[in-house]
Amino acid sequence: MRGLKGKWVLITGGARGIGAATAARFLEEGARVVVLDRDEAALEHIERDLPALSGTIDADVSDAEAVARAFEELDDLWQGLDVLINNAGISVRKPFMEITPQQWREVMDVNLNGMFFAAQQAARRMLAGEGGVILNMGSTNGLMGYHYYADYNASKAGVIELTRSMALELAPTVRVNCVCPGYILTPMQEAEYTPKMLRACESKIPLGRLGRPEEVAALFAFLASDDAAFITGHYFVMDGGEIAGGLASQP
Ligand code: NDP
Repeated sequence: MRGLKGKWVLITGGARGIGAATAARFLEEGARVVVLDRDEAALEHIERDLPALSGTIDADVSDAEAVARAFEELDDLWQGLDVLINNAGISVRKPFMEITPQQWREVMDVNLNGMFFAAQQAARRMLAGEGGVILNMGSTNGLMGYHYYADYNASKAGVIELTRSMALELAPTVRVNCVCPGYILTPMQEAEYTPKMLRACESKIPLGRLGRPEEVAALFAFLASDDAAFITGHYFVMDGGEIAGGLASQP
């Protein structure tokens, strides 16, 4: 991709899953990559797996002060942030009637509030510097209703609207877009789905399989690159065709 070499990239929730694949991809593109995550063990693991990382930082995106401290610490490292991959997120599979207020808050705190905290810190630096790109992690769950994920669905719908609003206010200095994957096989999915459930998901997907973290990483790389210089304020779906037909998807 054009224009990624030497760029400073911060990836939240980057210690495993899609975030870790994205870290590897940006390193391949010649970028300087820092991973922020709250999972200490996963951070140690990725430090061993990707020794070319410029740094890792242990922080919880749902804590606004911790995010501010993390960015201040990183200011000593980089000469300015170029790309934020705002990826950290959680999901808990539960019927609507069983979601507790605490669980609802936890999902919103990470998936929506955390995204706002990191985005604002990043945008402040990009506006004061030479601009940049912010890519927010949405989901097809933000576009359609899915059973047992009312909190997650609502949080991801919020991310899509946050993306549009940020794109309007931060243009022309900062581009902001949202990536909406469907089913991607990561530790998050493996924790919530049995092999039987995963096979049922595959059968709903026209391309006949779940997505791979590396495929989402490739979309992030394109959207962050100069090849996407005229793209801002939109969401991009990568789902193997899952939501293309609505009810018509099921023959
Ligand atoms: P994983 O659970 O595999 O990885 C997410 C990483 O983010 C974990 O290391 C996790 O740590 C970390 N994290 C979670 N909450 C926080 C937090 N508050 N602060 C810092 N780090 C945090 O998830 P995926 O790779 O599957 O998902 C990544 C993103 O992609 C999420 O936003 C998810 O909603 C989205 N997505 C995923 C899809 C999929 O099918 N996998 C589909 C569509 C969207 P810990 O282990 O402590 O939770």
